Amino acid sequence: MRVLLIGPPGAGKGTQAARIAAHFDLAQIATGDLLRGEIAADTQLGRTAKGYVDRGDLVPDELVITLTKARVVKANREGGYILDGYPRTLAQAEAAHRWATARGVSFDLALLFEIGTDELLARLAGRARQEGRSDDTEQTIRHRLEVFQSQTYPLIDYYRQRGILVRTEAVGPVDAITERICAVLHWHKARALAAGADRPEWTFDPADE
Ligand code: AMP
Repeated sequence: MRVLLIGPPGAGKGTQAARIAAHFDLAQIATGDLLRGEIAADTQLGRTAKGYVDRGDLVPDELVITLTKARVVKANREGGYILDGYPRTLAQAEAAHRWATARGVSFDLALLFEIGTDELLARLAGRARQEGRSDDTEQTIRHRLEVFQSQTYPLIDYYRQRGILVRTEAVGPVDAITERICAVLHWHKARALAAGADRPEWTFDPADE
């Protein structure tokens, strides 16, 4: 199963991605975590990304695509993945689409986390106190929400037009949200099996490594 999560910062994508990945035995690929890892390890990619992440801007598409590609290839071979925070721009979505169709695979579902701005701001303020993320200051949080609206929001229409967008209400107890999402994914899996769709054959392309 190949699932991607779309939602503003603070919508709970990371928390839910970990739970869904464990439940369905999928890899969780979180671009924000990968970028923070590169920054902590002070790699060249991390040094380039740091300024963007700290300001709450999106890291250039090419960097994120490079960072994500090999992991997606591996996870795809091993049974599927949850993409948490990628794609985040139409250019990334187009790149993912081109890359996948060339290999005869596609995303199964794009899960949209719906949540109001007041709830988001309250959650992000709580996370800032607990985790001390460098991009969780009030000013940066507001900027990241604007970036979501201007750059990531168009993906909702993009995946709706492809018939794979599923909306989920991301408010309420964490367990209840997980249950709702798992129910949607089980339903999708059963429907795909009933339609005779099996996991497509994976053709290994050394250029992917
Ligand atoms: P997150 O942990 O998903 O909130 O991501 C933290 C930060 O990492 C974002 O504010 C961006 O600066 C950067 N980032 C994460 N994913 C992407 C992406 N797909 N494209 C560009 N920048 C990203």
